[in-house]
Amino acid sequence: MTIKQALKVAIDILKQFNIENPIQISKIVLASVLQKSKEYLVINEEENLLEETYKEFIEKIRKISQGMPMQYVTNKQEFMGMEFFVDENVLIPRADTEILVEEVLKIIDKKEKLSILDMCTGSGIIAISIAKYTKNNRIYAVDISNKALEIAKKNAINNNVDKRIEFIASNMFEKLNSNNKFDIIVSNPPYIETEVIPTLESQVQKEPKIALDGGIDGLDFYRDILVNSKKYLKDNGTICLEIGYNQKKSVSDLLKKEYSNIYCKKDLAGNDRVIVAM
Ligand code: GLN
Repeated sequence: MTIKQALKVAIDILKQFNIENPIQISKIVLASVLQKSKEYLVINEEENLLEETYKEFIEKIRKISQGMPMQYVTNKQEFMGMEFFVDENVLIPRADTEILVEEVLKIIDKKEKLSILDMCTGSGIIAISIAKYTKNNRIYAVDISNKALEIAKKNAINNNVDKRIEFIASNMFEKLNSNNKFDIIVSNPPYIETEVIPTLESQVQKEPKIALDGGIDGLDFYRDILVNSKKYLKDNGTICLEIGYNQKKSVSDLLKKEYSNIYCKKDLAGNDRVIVAM
């Protein structure tokens, strides 16, 4: 079985199950099984695959055809120009979250020695990106899930910033010491309303429920961050939050109780995506 023939089999399976982008997915998955680039596949399309390589490839394609997100099969997602390991224990990084990170980088500007908290770090993308693109700041990354924290640590090591991030297993602020106050609290918390979750695409439903579920009105984690910010945010500190496309008003209204300066940023699709309060 050649590379070309194997890709054809995979594309046909994915098409049969109405999976979007079958060609692209097939190439990405085969390239990752072979640990080669997508270009390699094009140049070497007549190369024969080992039987076990072909089997592994088709097994992965079958999982994707059953609704498993491609990133959980390849264990990879790019974010802010870096590669992150992901599996079923963490949310798959979204391009929209880069808007949040870019806003935090703008706020940090050239400042150093800041203390920055990434609440609900998941795979660690936010904390790791901030560590990568700024100098000399102390970064804390908190998650309730030990499995997620293991992945975040691995991602920090792979991207050479592990020495600059402290990983803390905690249910929100519970294990944090309020003598340690932050200049910036950033978070992309779970924000989907509980009853909306079963209506999401099947791929999204393969992601950890605790990474998606924001409670009955989707706002549980914003409320927790707001209440705790009184104790954990420095007087001139800033809160930066990712929000759902329809949460600008509800999250701003919450934040208005404590903060007077609030603004919102849109994502590339034009949806409200980030709220900053200070
Ligand atoms: N902070 C991580 C991310 O943005 C995880 C978010 C989450 O689990 N809700 O991908």
